[in-house]
Amino acid sequence: MAKSDLEEYAAKRTFAATPEPKPAVTAPESGPLLFVVQQHSARRLHYDFRLECDGVLKSWAVPKAPALDPDQKRLAVHVEDHPYDYASFEGVIPPGQYGAGEVIVWDCGVYSPDEGGATWFHDRRQAEREIREGVEKGKLSFLLRGEKLKGSFALVRTKEAKQWLLIKHKDRFAAPTDVIAQNRSVLSGVAVEDLKVVPAHRIPAAQLVPAGAIEAMPATLAPMLA
Ligand code: MN
Repeated sequence: MAKSDLEEYAAKRTFAATPEPKPAVTAPESGPLLFVVQQHSARRLHYDFRLECDGVLKSWAVPKAPALDPDQKRLAVHVEDHPYDYASFEGVIPPGQYGAGEVIVWDCGVYSPDEGGATWFHDRRQAEREIREGVEKGKLSFLLRGEKLKGSFALVRTKEAKQWLLIKHKDRFAAPTDVIAQNRSVLSGVAVEDLKVVPAHRIPAAQLVPAGAIEAMPATLAPMLA
């Protein structure tokens, strides 16, 4: 696993005071890569878009929410890598802490780079290589299989180093639908404002995606005789 840097993540936070996960580079060794979009009601409501790669979550803050409409290019500000375990984080970052406010898992699922139409859901190493190179180059194309976000998207760096654009490619999932009208957590069903009154429960991030050895389908299936 390539070395990734969670120093910036750690430096911004006080782990005795925030329920956010401590920095650790860990991820499943098999299965497809995970993506997550967290809705974060901080000083300004925004969406944190994260792609698993090399044991961490590559992260962009999207002020206006991802769109399914290819004409709606969304500013995505590249921010520090987050630990893999952050993917299932829902809860309240206490007042006075970095990013104070409520966080829900607005969408999650698996993803693969899809440059040139090829996908690598079955090959995590190759998928990670393409994402790593894409982040370096400032140009990524990937296919999302989430509950709310589906289909092919691009992330493209602008002339401003931290400022990228998140753009929906034209495909059968492109739509003028306002996807943020679906404002509940895909994990717990709560809306971000509910977290002010309801406590959040966490599940491990690794449970968000399928993992384990791939087994072939049986060549024949016996009929059920019940
Ligand atoms: Mn945020």
